[in-house]
This record gives sequence, structure tokens and C-alpha cells, in this order.
Amino acid sequence: MPEQITENVYLISIPLENSPLKNLNAYLVRGRVRNLLIDTGYYTKSCIDVMRGCLKEIGVDMRETDIFLTHLHSDHCGMAGAIASSETTVYMSPADSRHLRDSYDPGFLDQTEAVYLSYGFSKEELIENRKNNPAVAYRQPVLVPSVPVYDGQVIDLGGTRLTCVSTPGHTPGHMCLYDPERKILFAGDHIIYDITPNITSWTEMEDALGTYLDSLRRVRGLDMKLALSAHRRPVSDSRMRIDQLLSHHEARLEDVMRILQMQGGSGIVMNCYQIASYMKWSIRARNWEEFPVVQKFFAVGEAASHLDHLIALNKVRRECSEGIYYYHVLQPA
Ligand SMILES: [Zn+2]
Ligand SMILES: [Zn+2]
Repeated sequence: MPEQITENVYLISIPLENSPLKNLNAYLVRGRVRNLLIDTGYYTKSCIDVMRGCLKEIGVDMRETDIFLTHLHSDHCGMAGAIASSETTVYMSPADSRHLRDSYDPGFLDQTEAVYLSYGFSKEELIENRKNNPAVAYRQPVLVPSVPVYDGQVIDLGGTRLTCVSTPGHTPGHMCLYDPERKILFAGDHIIYDITPNITSWTEMEDALGTYLDSLRRVRGLDMKLALSAHRRPVSDSRMRIDQLLSHHEARLEDVMRILQMQGGSGIVMNCYQIASYMKWSIRARNWEEFPVVQKFFAVGEAASHLDHLIALNKVRRECSEGIYYYHVLQPA
């Protein structure tokens, strides 16, 4: 059932099957000229049925509605093409739209896997991961064409004007929408309560974590009463949540440094996969070996983004040996 958040703003909660994220929060903003649907849900029958039912209940006609996709993940843009009408404009950042387009290329997964091999993942685990990859399973079969949106651009719905706020980090082109009049930020996966947005490594970003932290500090400066996140409940104290996220990553970086210093003592130099196995994870598994392979994939990506940031800070160096990167602490000269 849709829930009215404030005048002309509705929350549409889409249950996500087989996902620890539980739900995707899509938001419908009514305008005098156009309506805007912010994010959608997986391309599955059950998700699409819930969305259609909710839009009907609010009384929204997709011919008068455009779609804004905060970023490229399947839980956000999966069904966009299925619910869009021929009169719907789909907005998305150029960076995410490019990445999404490239991901339909048959060789794309091979390239991603080559990166994970260099992190120390085994071929066997990557084959297993490919079978369970939700990014591919729940995405739209044909890519929906999108219109690019840029930082500072205003989407005028008639009566409501929403400003695009570029917030790269979670993905290369993650984009929030800001309503300065109501002081609401449609936050996508940039700020979420209870769970920390996954930050992984991307070929488009040399330092994804550093980019994300900059985007957090940028949004911290906005005059904001409410951040409407794409998962969990709305964030009513966004500055506090941003500070928590900043210190969470600070602690993670310290943890990675501790692991790297530990290896210095033992004389063994570790790759990213091995470093991830020593990091703390909030997963119900007794040890690293018992982690489901998909979780290992996420964990190694996250470890890589922290290592990349430490490299950017000049604290860590990596060296390649037989196609695998090994990391060590950079001693101050
Ligand atoms: Zn996401
Ligand atoms: Zn998400």
C-alpha cells in the first residue's frame, strides 16, 4: 500500500525477493504538469504487480509520469522499461547509464571477473558467483533508453522543482534529488539508516571510497529536514547519520591498516581476498570459509575500495605479482 509522506509525496514499498535489503522504497512525487517516480524495483512479476497496484491506488497515469533512476542497480532500475509508457522520460546520470549499457555487453562479466582474479579470487568461486548474481537475474531484459541528467539540473514538475545532486561513490554516477522548498532529499542508496551503503571498486573510479566520502560531506551541507532513502526508514537526522557513516569508514580503514601491519610482522604479504578474510563482517557465518560466495564477492569489493583509498592517501602500496595484487603499508620516508 502506498503511504503519503507529505503533500504530493508518496512512498511505494516494493518487497525484494531473496534480498537482505528487504524492500526498495520508490517515491512518487505529484506535480501539476508531470509526476515523477523515483526508482522502481526488480524486473520480476511480483515487484511489477506491487508497483502497478500502488500507482493505481494513488491514481497515477504513467502517460503523465516520468521516471528518475538514482543509480544503475537492478533493485532501482530493473522494472523501469516495463512500467514506462511511450510518453515517459527516464532520467539517469550519464556515468551510470554508460556503465549499465556496457554491462549488457557479453564480455562485460569477463572483465569484472578479471579484476576479481587480480584481487585473489579463485576461478571456481567466480564461476559459482556468476550463477547467483542478482544484478543479472533481476534486471530488465532490454535496456530502457534514458535521458542524461547533470548536477544542478532542475526537474520542474509544475509546483515542485527538484534539483539533481551528483553523489558518486556507491556507483560512478549516483544521483540524489533535492527539494529545497520542503527540505527533502531523495537519497537513493547514498544515506541509509541501519545498513551502510555498499562501497566497492569500479573501473570508472580510482578511489570509490574517497569519492563516496566527499559526496557524503557535500550532502551534509544541505539544509535538510528529511532524507528519503531507497531502503529502510526515512532518515530524520541526516547530519548525525552522515557522521556515523563517515566514522564507520574511518574505523574500517583503521581495521585494514591493522591487518596490513599484522602481516608486516609475519612477513607474509596478503592480497585483497586474504585481507577481506581478516576484516570484520556482520554476516551469520562462523568463518570466512563459510561465507556464501556472493557475500565474499561483496566483501572483497568493499575491501578493495578501502585499500584503493589508503593508496590514494599514500598510506598503502600495491604490487602485482603473477597477475595478483599484494598490499603493504607504505613506511613514511
Ligand atoms: Zn545500490
Ligand atoms: Zn539499493
